[in-house]
Amino acid sequence: MKPKIAVVGSFNTDLTVFTPRMPAPGETILGGPYYTGPGGKGANQAVAAARLGAQVSMVVKLGQDYYGDQALENLVQEGIDTRGVIRTADTHTGVAFIVVDQQGENMIVVASGANAQLTPADIDGVRDVITGADIVLLQLEIPMETVAYTAALAHAAGVTVLLNPAPAQPLSADLLAHVDYLTPNESEAQLISGLPVADVVGAEAAARWLTAQGVRTPVITLGAKGALASGAGGFMHVPGRKVEVVDTTGAGDAFNGALAVALGEGKDLAAAVAFANTAAALQVTQRGTAPAMPRREAVESFLT
Ligand code: ATP
Repeated sequence: MKPKIAVVGSFNTDLTVFTPRMPAPGETILGGPYYTGPGGKGANQAVAAARLGAQVSMVVKLGQDYYGDQALENLVQEGIDTRGVIRTADTHTGVAFIVVDQQGENMIVVASGANAQLTPADIDGVRDVITGADIVLLQLEIPMETVAYTAALAHAAGVTVLLNPAPAQPLSADLLAHVDYLTPNESEAQLISGLPVADVVGAEAAARWLTAQGVRTPVITLGAKGALASGAGGFMHVPGRKVEVVDTTGAGDAFNGALAVALGEGKDLAAAVAFANTAAALQVTQRGTAPAMPRREAVESFLT
């Protein structure tokens, strides 16, 4: 049985230009090449989960523009259910302007556009998508009140809530109490808990703090070191997989999409985190975000 996952989140068109060096303020330089592609944490996690075999629905707001049309087409191509796609003529589809220099350093400005206009009323309009899911997967690139509203709605309907608290923002006690799985990376865990998180021991302290706030299962991602999860059986550190790293952008999105799939399939926490580590490790061996999400067969064969 394929797990049903509803992703409520962002779509951004990534506009990426490569440059020999970063321009100084006020300067114009010639760069290139230039690429456009699908991005945004919500859409990336939806693609990750769909490629790993889940039945995925995406709730997202797009503009009535060319990038919005492209986004919709891309979701359909990935086999994602688009009943929850809302279009607005009030603003543009989200875009991310990404400048990457020869050292691989980047500068990014996001114009959230329609993502910033996804409201609790919009969620009410597609509530069946959320209440009919096994797992709701959320991130923080849409308004916080919409995240909190969705988590409360899902929680009340008995749907498992997985929140990836990225980009880092403080979270209310009310929201934390509606979250089953919270998946911060180290810096997000530090910001939310106020505790230093630089290693596994620090992650354990932050996980303990999160549990005290009502989060059922904190899962703190630790980059190449894997992840620290805290479940009914206590802490478990599940080490990362050793791979040739090409580009770590989107690692967190691969991890979250994969974790949702594995939990939805009923895997236990240790097996689910190992599956997520494996999917994310494969993702960092490829350039890009959504296009680099691995397929099920690749993850299964790397797992064994
Ligand atoms: P990003 O912002 O790059 O998408 P993140 O900061 O949200 O990632 P990380 O904790 O860096 O999250 O990475 C998420 C997961 O990706 C890790 O738990 C691990 O499974 C995998 N991962 C990240 N970096 C590596 C690496 N160098 N080698 C193997 N696995 C990695």
